[in-house]
Amino acid sequence: MITSIGILGGGQLGMFLCEAAKKQDKNIYIFSEVSEFSSKKFCKDWFLGEFRDLKKINDFIKNVDVVTIETENIPLETLKFIESKNKLFPSSQIIEIAQNRIKEKQFLNSLNNIRTTEYFLINQFSDLLKMQKIIGNQFIIKSCELGYDGKNQYKIDDQNMNTFQKKNINNFIAEKIVDFELEISVIVCRDFLGEIKTYPPVQNTHENGILITTEYPAKIKKSIIKDATSISKQIAKSLNLIGVLAIEMFVLKNDEILVNELAPRPHNSGHWSLDSCKNSQFDNLINSISKQKVRDPHVFVKSAIMKNIIGKDYLNFETFKKKFKCYDYFKNQVKDKRKMAHYIITKN
Ligand code: ADP
Ligand code: MG
Repeated sequence: MITSIGILGGGQLGMFLCEAAKKQDKNIYIFSEVSEFSSKKFCKDWFLGEFRDLKKINDFIKNVDVVTIETENIPLETLKFIESKNKLFPSSQIIEIAQNRIKEKQFLNSLNNIRTTEYFLINQFSDLLKMQKIIGNQFIIKSCELGYDGKNQYKIDDQNMNTFQKKNINNFIAEKIVDFELEISVIVCRDFLGEIKTYPPVQNTHENGILITTEYPAKIKKSIIKDATSISKQIAKSLNLIGVLAIEMFVLKNDEILVNELAPRPHNSGHWSLDSCKNSQFDNLINSISKQKVRDPHVFVKSAIMKNIIGKDYLNFETFKKKFKCYDYFKNQVKDKRKMAHYIITKN
């Protein structure tokens, strides 16, 4: 039986995993690169070190039955090392794909009937000029790796194009801007037996690339719920996923779906499941990596809204707490655009 779980990264996702693990009498051990982190007070024990320090990693994984991640930004060599000891879930292959936007898009487009927006690899300013000819005057560029919450992303147009002459845009992706109707995401979990469970699609609102609100249920037709769910299952199956995978999607005005991004871990847009489902995304990650069956989410609310508390909004946390069910991430410092906490409003 699996009783001890290691997590690479100690942010709020790790914190929620600690709480889910406790319900099943399992212990979580955190490996963190920083000395102050959200899950410190919640885990059984923690290790401080660099993800690329294989000796430290080896000491860490000796103490645990399995290892999972709460950030995809872990050196591939480290992931492969843990995998060689048969302890890493989800697999390094899945994480490798999600780490790099080009690999992610190549993989998604290789699947039957799954599409993304048009994209190109760019490395230098002259590539931006070429892009104008191919995908038009306006497009988005993003660093292929290490981007999150809209960081290292820029909208390019005629006006600001020249300002990129001096910027380092090596290993960036250029994407055609999607004129979407709305954004949704699906969280899919798959276990050792190949059983798959999906959470219902939720509707996401972003501002400057950062998630502001998630709403359940998404205001979409039944046919889109069906398509989004089947796309998610197809992706999970084709990757032989063991764990949890979040799939961000754009719904177009003609009801077509384009897949935007994959996150092989619990996801901010799944936090509503904490208050609205019998089995949250965190419960199901613990289930799947502990060689237990994944369970039906079993939604018990009519609707739910999750709102992120970002940056200085956190200074009003006490006021939010009086009105809503709030979740503090216990960050050591308020930073602009940093996710500090969230709250959830449910209706039965
Ligand atoms: P991150 O890793 O920062 O979450 P995303 O690719 O998901 O990166 O981008 C963040 C948000 O920016 C998306 O959820 C969406 O709102 C917007 N966005 C990203 N790419 C595009 C695009 N090609 N067209 C339109 N909007 C986009
Ligand atoms: Mg995203």
